[in-house]
Amino acid sequence: MIIDGKQIASNLRASLKAQVTDFKKQHNITPSLTVVLVGNDPASDVYVRNKVKQTLEVGMISNEIRLSQQTSESELLTLLDELNTDDSVHGILVQLPLPKAIDEQRVISAINPDKDVDGFHAQNSGRLLNGEPGALVPCTPQGCVILAQSHLGDDLSGKHVVIIGRSNIVGKPVSLLFLQAHCTVTITHSRTANLKDVVKQADIVVAAVGIPKMVKGDWLKPGCVVIDVGINRITNEEGKTALVGDVDFIEAEKVASAITPVPGGVGPMTIACLLKNTLQAAQNQLAH
Ligand code: NAD
Repeated sequence: MIIDGKQIASNLRASLKAQVTDFKKQHNITPSLTVVLVGNDPASDVYVRNKVKQTLEVGMISNEIRLSQQTSESELLTLLDELNTDDSVHGILVQLPLPKAIDEQRVISAINPDKDVDGFHAQNSGRLLNGEPGALVPCTPQGCVILAQSHLGDDLSGKHVVIIGRSNIVGKPVSLLFLQAHCTVTITHSRTANLKDVVKQADIVVAAVGIPKMVKGDWLKPGCVVIDVGINRITNEEGKTALVGDVDFIEAEKVASAITPVPGGVGPMTIACLLKNTLQAAQNQLAH
């Protein structure tokens, strides 16, 4: 079975739209998201346009701030100071990657954690680690859990999840989310010994590596669920550019009980969960 991330993301957005309408009625406040884009990276441009479009579609306010490639770190930090204290801004997202002259970590740390809808600020990582309700959790990892639950049901307790990759953006936070869902979690990475044998034990495999088609069909336990986070641009046999995941889809599809495609799997969930975080941020700010 193919897990249709587009459809599941669309369902999530429909539910968010209804929640945003209720929130507006109850509090006379429209949740708002400000996206800051520095420079003119074409991939980032597409991501930002999609974020703006979908923010508006669920009934939230979208602000887009575009800065030139030459913007200095201190100019960006001054802008963030203003957004941090502006009560009409509930969520702030600085599109990554930033130009090389700007220290990404310093910028992430400068975002008000209550408005950090990417969930990358150290304070939000701590809240996730502690399992605090209302924590702003990184978007792609949230999407992975929702996709696994769409096939296996909400109760994932006892499932063995093997995560390939230990980045701060995907691997580490997704491992904490599955742990919270009462799974047994194994985190693997570039130095893991006998990776194939470890992956073979998984009921759920999350691949977040960045190596095209690395995970082969014979790495998988029959009937497992595969969540493919990877987005890799390759030139296919016909000489055309194609997007593929970290899992060899054709092989894996024959062994797994369910698998997310690339594109159309995890990708669409990331923006939907960003909108979920924006509403969460607005709710949290009201409660303060
Ligand atoms: P990263 O480069 O920060 O981390 C990659 C991880 O893979 C590292 O922890 C590394 O230890 C591990 N790794 C590298 N080589 C390995 C090997 N041979 N065997 C096992 N592990 C290995 O990448 P990231 O930011 O976590 O992203 C991973 C992939 O997910 C990329 O393709 C990225 O484009 C994609 N991604 C997709 C979304 C989405 O919305 N769908 C969001 C974020 C990232």
